[in-house]
Amino acid sequence: MEKTDVVIAGGGPTGLMLACELRLAGVRATLLDGLPARTGESRAGGIHARTMEIFDQRGLLENLLPLGRPVQAGHFGGLRLDFSDLNTRYPYALAVLQSVIERELDRRATELGAPVQWSSPITEIRQDDAGVEVEVGEPHGTRRIRAAYLVGCDGGRSAVRKLTGIDFAGTDATVTGMLADVELTDPPAQPFFGHRSDAGDFSVWQFEPGWYRLIVQRHDRVLERGSNLTFEDFRDNFHELAGTDFGMHSPRWVTHYSDAARQADRYRVGRVLLAGDAAHIHYPAGGQGLNLGVQDAVNLGWKLAATVRGTASDDLLDSYETERHPIAARVLHNTRAQTAISRPGPHTDALRDIMSDLIDTDQVRHRLGLMITALDIRYDTKSDHPLAGRRVPDIALTTPGGDARVCELLRTARPILLVLNGNDAPLVPQWHDRIDIVRAASAAELWNIPGVGDIPAPAAVLLRPDGYAAWVSDEPGNAGLTEALTTWVGAPA
Ligand SMILES: Cc1cc2nc3c(=O)[nH]c(=O)nc-3n(C[C@H](O)[C@H](O)[C@H](O)COP(=O)(O)OP(=O)(O)OC[C@H]3O[C@@H](n4cnc5c(N)ncnc54)[C@H](O)[C@@H]3O)c2cc1C
Repeated sequence: MEKTDVVIAGGGPTGLMLACELRLAGVRATLLDGLPARTGESRAGGIHARTMEIFDQRGLLENLLPLGRPVQAGHFGGLRLDFSDLNTRYPYALAVLQSVIERELDRRATELGAPVQWSSPITEIRQDDAGVEVEVGEPHGTRRIRAAYLVGCDGGRSAVRKLTGIDFAGTDATVTGMLADVELTDPPAQPFFGHRSDAGDFSVWQFEPGWYRLIVQRHDRVLERGSNLTFEDFRDNFHELAGTDFGMHSPRWVTHYSDAARQADRYRVGRVLLAGDAAHIHYPAGGQGLNLGVQDAVNLGWKLAATVRGTASDDLLDSYETERHPIAARVLHNTRAQTAISRPGPHTDALRDIMSDLIDTDQVRHRLGLMITALDIRYDTKSDHPLAGRRVPDIALTTPGGDARVCELLRTARPILLVLNGNDAPLVPQWHDRIDIVRAASAAELWNIPGVGDIPAPAAVLLRPDGYAAWVSDEPGNAGLTEALTTWVGAPA
């Protein structure tokens, strides 16, 4: 029987990102996908600031930026949300197709030694105390693989979730979104606009020269999951709402989706874990799902790698569910709110007017912007320092190796003890094999933390491989550092 450290089911954005993280940490990862090949379809049309920062941390952003287009604003239930004053190096959404993101992640996963193995659907799972065994239903027979862990990144209908008996509770569909990527003979004057009516909404988005993404949102009908939506059906629905079809033709892709919102009640059962859409589904309002999956993968990767290597504390792997379950629950919550304020009728119109006024105020716009972009995430590190548990801002540093930004220090995906401006470097020799110590100078006297404001630059920070602060000190010395290292890096050597 074939052996590996981690089997990943699903070569979508979540599975690809997880494979890259595990390989960076030196762990063997076998990445399986049930499809015969990549479809080239693009559900997502963009990513938000925190995902750009995460891609930057791993050196993936520089290729993606020129393949996308910065868009200054996102939306909340269709109400414009300006991102330009968010304190990040990337205060905008990047309009970039999911197929392009997958292509870049595919390239990186292959380079790191974990290419997607296509036509390899997982069909059976058995686990015991020492490992997990999967059956893969390949075209010419069954293949069996044994691993220390299995991660289901196999999408909303996850076989891994079902075979493991994990409950997926939530709310049923009330709305149908219909989407077609088409060419237009008679395009509208504006390249991007949306319109609300009593029967539903429609929007037009010129994604690239030559083709448009048209979307219809119907509040008066719910299409069965798995039912077929033809191009002609789409055109009729669009025409009914818009009064024109803009001469749509040559469809590349037609699909429908719903606002069913469900979340796995557990992200881990023994040696089986879930991430991405396998763990949570929701309406694509605000464009958050792919971001959420990539961030699940980056939270899980280093924890799982340390667990496989045997260096992690007992609780480290469980902190994946503790940290990420509430984050997805918040996304489900905000997408339900966005559906509610998108419904037709005079009552919702009144609510939208009031919301629209509120969003014009800096505080509300800023708060919603931080939520949609996930820049305000705070994990519990048992410290009340305002930076602890939050993502460390991308400060410019001067290090003995030259100038570097915080995101650039994280390229190796190792924990980093960053000691600033000549403060005494805390001595922690028992962890030197597992962390990098970087002594750096920074001219930034104040660090801006989204959702907090400016704080004085700290004396030292322990960065987790995902870029969040595990320990922060404003004083020279290492009070509390040993405990933080034991929790997040593992027992002393
Ligand atoms: C219309 C629409 C627009 C969207 N727009 C955005 C957006 O702008 N921004 C955003 O962030 N998100 C957006 N999303 C959400 C985003 O597309 C998903 O959240 C994202 O694809 C999830 O990635 P994933 O890797 O978790 O799952 P998936 O992309 O679903 O990948 C799962 C993979 O698992 C494979 N698989 C399935 N079963 C098995 C099996 N048994 N064994 C092995 N492999 C298996 C599948 O073939 C697939 O390749 C949108 C979604 C929709 C529907």
